[in-house]
This record gives sequence, C-alpha cells and structure tokens, in this order.
Amino acid sequence: MTSIIDQEQHYCAENYAPLPVILNRGEGVYVWDEQGKRYMDMMSAYSAVSFGHSNPRLVKILAEQAATLALPSRAFYSDKLAPFAKRLCEITGMDKMLPMNTGAEAVETALKAARKWAYQVKGVEKNKAEIITCHGNFHGRTIAIVGFSSEPQYKAGFGPFPTGFKQIPFNDIAALEAAITPNTAAFLIEPVQGEGGIIVHDAGYLAACAELCRRRNVLLICDEVQAGLGRTGKLLACQHDNVKPDGLILGKALGGGLLPVSAFLAREDVMAVFTPGDHGSTFGGNPLASAVSLEAMNILMEDQLAKRSQQLGERFAKGLRAINSPLIKEVRGLGLLIGLEVYPEVCSARRLCEALLQLGILSKETHETVVRFAPPLIIEQQQIDWALEQINTAITNCQ
Ligand code: PMP
Repeated sequence: MTSIIDQEQHYCAENYAPLPVILNRGEGVYVWDEQGKRYMDMMSAYSAVSFGHSNPRLVKILAEQAATLALPSRAFYSDKLAPFAKRLCEITGMDKMLPMNTGAEAVETALKAARKWAYQVKGVEKNKAEIITCHGNFHGRTIAIVGFSSEPQYKAGFGPFPTGFKQIPFNDIAALEAAITPNTAAFLIEPVQGEGGIIVHDAGYLAACAELCRRRNVLLICDEVQAGLGRTGKLLACQHDNVKPDGLILGKALGGGLLPVSAFLAREDVMAVFTPGDHGSTFGGNPLASAVSLEAMNILMEDQLAKRSQQLGERFAKGLRAINSPLIKEVRGLGLLIGLEVYPEVCSARRLCEALLQLGILSKETHETVVRFAPPLIIEQQQIDWALEQINTAITNCQ
C-alpha cells in the first residue's frame, strides 16, 4: 500500500490529499481496495458516477463503440453525435448543445457564448461585457474561472486573471438587481452550490433571478455540472424553481461515469454566435463519448433516476436528521446530494470521513466542515439504511 502511495507522491503533483485507500475495482455502488475490502461509494467521483461503477449497459456500449469508431474528430461528421445531441436537447428542453469534455471547459464555453452574445445581440460596447457570479461558487479550475472564485486558495499564486467578472452574495435577489448594468451579459449560478458546501437557495430565488434577467436582457446560465441529471431529485436542479435557463452547463454524470463528457446548451440565438473556427475541442463530441452519453441519458430517463433520487434522498436526509449528536450542525441538500455540516471543534469533517472509511463508506469533506453524501443514483433503499447505521456509528465514535 505504501509503495503505491509513495510512488504517486513521488511522480505526481500533489494537488490532491486522498484518503489512505487504494482502490482497484468497482461495481454498482461499491468499490474494493487491494486487500479485497468493500466500500460503499458515497461520493460517486464528485457526482459523476450516478449510474454506478462499470454500469453494464454503459460498459457494453463503450466496448462496442470503441471497437467501431472512437475519434474521427469534428473535422468530419460521425453518426453518433447527432442522436446524442437530439436526445440531450429534448430531455433538457434546450434548443442546441455544444459538446466538450470537462466541466470547466463547458463553463468556459458558456462564458465565451455569453460575451459574444452581449456584443452581437445585446449591443454591448466592445470589451465591456460583464458576467455576474456568486460568492461561494465553484465552476472549475481554469485561469478565468478561478479568477472569479471567492476561495483564496483556488486563486493564490495564479494571477493575473481576466477581468469582466463581478461577484454577488448567493441567494440575494437585491444584490443581483444592484449588480446588473447595461453591460451585463450573463448571470452564472449553480442552483445548488456543490463544492461550496451543498448550499440550497431559498424557494423562489432562482425564479426571481430568471424573471429579473429576462426583464433586464441578461442571460441566466445555470451550471448544473454537479447538480444536474437527476442528482437533486429533478432532471435539472433549476426545475425545483420551475426555471428554464437561457444557458445550461452539464458534465460529470453526462459521461456515464466512464468518460469525461460535458456540454453547454443554450437558446438558439445564443448558440448562433458560434461560427466555424470560433471554438472547439479535439475530443468534444467524439462518437465514443456520444454513444456512452446517449445510453446514459436513456438509463436516466427509462429508470426514472431523478424520482428515485428524490425518494431515496428524502429517506437518507431524514435518517441523518434523526441522528442526535453534538457533532452535527446541519443536514441539508436536495435529492441524493446531501451535506452534513459538523462543528469542527467537536470533530473535523476529514476525521469523520476517515472514521467512515474504516466502516466501509467512502465520502469526502468539502470546505473542512461539510461531509458530502452523493451515492450513485442506482442505490437501493436497504443500502441507504445500511449506510445510515455506519454513519451513526462513525459519528458516535468521533464525538
Ligand atoms: N461546475 C461545477 C458546479 C462543479 O461542481 C465542477 C466540478 N466539481 C465543475 C464545474 C468543474 O468540472 P471539471 O472538474 O470536470 O472541470
């Protein structure tokens, strides 16, 4: 065990601080370490493994497509991108999509689209476009994105950053109203702030943002890389407030837990700003990714995973709230995206994650005080109940 960890630390940049477990196999909601110990995955690779590890339907498509045609590039048409794009637009209700790979790339795509839309359609003066973001946001790790992060560590040492971004408090409609100027291109928001600590806005807030943006001719762009695709108990987290955004960013689970697949989706007139040569990606929209993602979207809809997430998420959150402990500050979330906030003076979130690891549950802290529970959406009720027992024990051991 140590030799693998030593080797990784020797040869890899240490930009992560992994829990001390070496995994070598996964199936459904479980993963196994080198000694054959089984763990329930309550993190799902930051919500990317919604369909379970090595989902057989997805692995089958992956293998078939890999043996057929994987990467011709978008210099040519392939027979797999169009059916995937059609399905994704239909289920999300958006007009058009632009395929990328990672979440951050799809966010960058959204930022470029919003700026060009501001100049070409809204009539903002050259190089004056502004994009409003929220305090506590997480949209990825590129230079532009960390530039508008409110987390000092994410940006320390990486400046200078692109200008044209403003930050307002999350969940504050008056702040949005005050921040909008004639130069505002877009308001970029995560309907549930994931890395920020599973923060859910008040009911009605996103709907009010949508109304305000419409009135002031500002694009509302929802980053649902983490919260989208059934994770919060609806297909899209913005649907909890009955909102249809002008731009939508998806990633993580879009690749079925097998490949990095992301997309920026938007209204016709927004996407129309892109012309050949404006933007692109060597791997974006490749047939291997498209075939897997289409099958993942089929599973999501056929197996009604959003509904399942809502029902099992309620049971899970209720079970967590029933744990009576001086360690727990709050349990919050939507569907199967749940955050348990601890009082760090009683026990740090990291220590609780280590205690959970001993009991066969994988989770990860976010922001030092929050333990995230986001199991694959295919999880069964009795598996949730088993997890609750272990979490109860871990909390008792830690307090
Ligand atoms: N947006 C949100 C809301 C995210 O949670 C993340 C990843 N945690 C990203 C964007 C970035 O995705 P990626 O790591 O694939 O670049």
